[in-house]
Amino acid sequence: MGNQSVLCPVCQGVLPASGRDSYTTLRGRLIVTNGYCGGGCEERRAEAEQTRQMARPVAPMQQQVQQPGAQVPPARVAPALRAVR
Ligand SMILES: [Zn+2]
Repeated sequence: MGNQSVLCPVCQGVLPASGRDSYTTLRGRLIVTNGYCGGGCEERRAEAEQTRQMARPVAPMQQQVQQPGAQVPPARVAPALRAVR
């Protein structure tokens, strides 16, 4: 107990000490294992989530098959499709 208030919820790094109470043995150990929080984690996480939503991965296999100029022989594609069904 007490770890959550010391650690950054995003990067799990140790947050800057807010008072004398923060300097504990546990905190010192966490700094060694987790390192310090660099700050701005919430902003970075929000940015990452935005990027993830914008760049939604489309199934690469289907794209290859639908490409008009794709030089993939039908015989090579058919077995894979049958295996899925
Ligand atoms: Zn952090």
